[in-house]
Amino acid sequence: MGQVSQNFIGFLMAFTRAQGLSGTTNGMAQRAKEKSGVGAFLGRAATTNIWRSKISWRIALSAFLTILVIQSAILIASFKEQEAMLLDEVKGIGRSILSPAIGEVSDMLQSPITQEQAARINGSTIIDGFTVYSADLTFLGSYGEPVSMVMLDMASLDKSYRSVDGNSYEVVYTSTDLRRPYVVVAKLSSTNVVPALLSFVNKSLAIMFLLSAFVTAVLMISLSKWLLEPILFMRDNLLAASENPENPDIKPSPFDINDEVGGAISMAQSLIQQNADNIRQIKSAAEDKIHKLAYYDQLTGLPNRIQFLQKLTDLARTANDDDTRSPKRFAVIALDLDHFKDINDSMGHNIGDAILRGVGKRLRAALPESAVVARSGEDEFAITMPLSTDINTARDIAEKVVSVIKSEPFKVFNESFQVRASVGVSTFPDDGMDPDQVLKNADIALNRAKEEGRDTIKEYSEDFDRAVQLRFQLLRDLRDALEAKELMLYFQPQFDLNNGRIIGAEGLLRWFKKDDSKQGGQFISPAEFVPIAEQSGLIVPIGEWVLEYACIQAAKWQEAGHNIRVAVNVSGAQFYQSDIVASVARCLKETGLKPHNLELEVTESVFMDDINHTIETLQKLHALGVELAIDDFGTGYSSLSYLRQFPIDRLKIDQSFIRNALNNSDDAAIARTIVNLGHSLNLQVIAEGVETKEHEQFLLAQKCDEVQGFRYSKPIPVDDFVKFIKSYKGSLSVFDK
Ligand code: C2E
Ligand code: MG
Ligand code: MG
Repeated sequence: MGQVSQNFIGFLMAFTRAQGLSGTTNGMAQRAKEKSGVGAFLGRAATTNIWRSKISWRIALSAFLTILVIQSAILIASFKEQEAMLLDEVKGIGRSILSPAIGEVSDMLQSPITQEQAARINGSTIIDGFTVYSADLTFLGSYGEPVSMVMLDMASLDKSYRSVDGNSYEVVYTSTDLRRPYVVVAKLSSTNVVPALLSFVNKSLAIMFLLSAFVTAVLMISLSKWLLEPILFMRDNLLAASENPENPDIKPSPFDINDEVGGAISMAQSLIQQNADNIRQIKSAAEDKIHKLAYYDQLTGLPNRIQFLQKLTDLARTANDDDTRSPKRFAVIALDLDHFKDINDSMGHNIGDAILRGVGKRLRAALPESAVVARSGEDEFAITMPLSTDINTARDIAEKVVSVIKSEPFKVFNESFQVRASVGVSTFPDDGMDPDQVLKNADIALNRAKEEGRDTIKEYSEDFDRAVQLRFQLLRDLRDALEAKELMLYFQPQFDLNNGRIIGAEGLLRWFKKDDSKQGGQFISPAEFVPIAEQSGLIVPIGEWVLEYACIQAAKWQEAGHNIRVAVNVSGAQFYQSDIVASVARCLKETGLKPHNLELEVTESVFMDDINHTIETLQKLHALGVELAIDDFGTGYSSLSYLRQFPIDRLKIDQSFIRNALNNSDDAAIARTIVNLGHSLNLQVIAEGVETKEHEQFLLAQKCDEVQGFRYSKPIPVDDFVKFIKSYKGSLSVFDK
């Protein structure tokens, strides 16, 4: 091998090594690239994407076609030139044959060519025939195939003729061409010109095609390297960002940040990164917020019921493990502020909220770190605390809790509020192994405390469970009774105190609950089952039935000529869980009862639940024309300012005031005040629980308008009530004993 070629091979090897293209180095570089991720992407982009890319192919095809068109134009232009060159060549050959054949000039009027010479010339492959003229264009002789061009004048010297089939070509050789004083017109064979031209075209086309392909390939590679790869890289980045905007799988850009595309990629990447940062920030803030909302009470900042239960579960778990240091028993306390709703309703939510915050703070401050203090409901708090040798009963903690709340009034806006609480207590594991159950038991004990007049502490006892079970059973039976149509509505008449006329009747639920006893069952007081029905929502269908039944009966009375109204008790749940307005409207329509012959009795508690909703509903009911009365007036926490806004017709003094009016001056004063208040607000006042003539006289003295009570009649079945109306003499004195 020569020195030069050895040097060349050495150079090649060095070059390929430097480029990372030779076997091993290439492999290593590739692996390194793949590790960084970039190589993997580029490798993928270069081998698959680029050649598959539609845009590449479009650009390549247009480049290819453009080059082809340009080159075709060039080819067409050079075609004529090439043909002329080939013909020139033929002419040159013809001259080289003719010129030596013309001998020395002897006789200018004689052809310088002998027949023998002419035969030799015409025998050549190029010349088929020719005509000889003298310099002044005198015809001297014609040889071989006849020539079609005739020299007439000097202008003819510049002409040439090509046959239509391209096989013959006639040219003029002037005396200058021949260097003799003759002019020869020769018919040359040009059959070779066309194949030569075709071969030229073919070669040109082949070169053109190769050139186009080469240029296209170069273009495509450059495009892909500098434009397509970056674009695909950016597209992959954007794709990654859209698939997972929070944690986009973005590779570092291998493209020069200083060129336009590289710059755009780097900008896009930082935007994607910024977007991801923002999303992460927003998400984590939202998660924090959700966590706070889900696990903390917003008002007091204390854990809520959910978190309380979780902590209870944690405590129960550690109590059950083998670690002797972890507390094995703990107290669970459920606390409810007494009459908090009244404070809230009468003083406003700001005061109520401030008191709740105050209670939370006091409890938290009074109890050790180990205690969990949570707000578990509107005015309910839950506390759990490990029991130790110092404090070893749950009741001790409950007493401490109560004393902390009662010790001194809460001061809000310079006003003092004495808050009391009912407390239910249970102990883990004594009252249940399941933390959920322990809390439920504390709640059951709390309900007991509330039922027993509030402001007390009740410790959970299994007996409570039985009471709860009984309530559940009663609820199930009540549901069955409703379905079996075993509920009844009794009617208790109402009278105008001034003229003694029957003006209406209150419909009161009666449930004769069947059992195996001798009597076949017993009446369950609505005072017992209505609250249970209210708690469970069952009062809604029951109330619907009552309304419908009362309207049907009253419509019959109306038809029989008794213009008396029927009063129906409506519970809060009916106001909030059903469309009472629609029900009333439907009943009136279906029964034909005049609206003023229907009265709805609602208690004050209904008014306070959602004041705006209540006012709106009452207004709609009033618009239907039905009468509205406030039942048990005086026992609730009515706000006089609201009273003016309610479209009511009647106040119904609670029976407790009437019962005690004669022996308790406070109750008598309250009854009197209610009558005056009603009259000053232009309302009718009815008294219920009128049992004696003395009660009646008292009410007469107070100018009460209407009465209802056992003195006149107990609630009675509808048939008895109809008889009662018919036989009634129209004077209250008939009830005097
Ligand atoms: P209320 O609406 O205040 O009904 C008056 C209660 O006083 C009735 O008790 C009635 O029997 C009783 N009563 C009437 N006059 C006298 C009397 O002179 N002396 C005494 N000691 N009591 C008298 P009842 O029927 O046991 O109803 C108790 C409560 O149950 C009702 O109080 C009402 O709140 C509720 N209730 C009854 N029926 C319905 C109903 O259909 N729907 C709803 N939501 N609640 C009802
Ligand atoms: Mg009533
Ligand atoms: Mg009442």
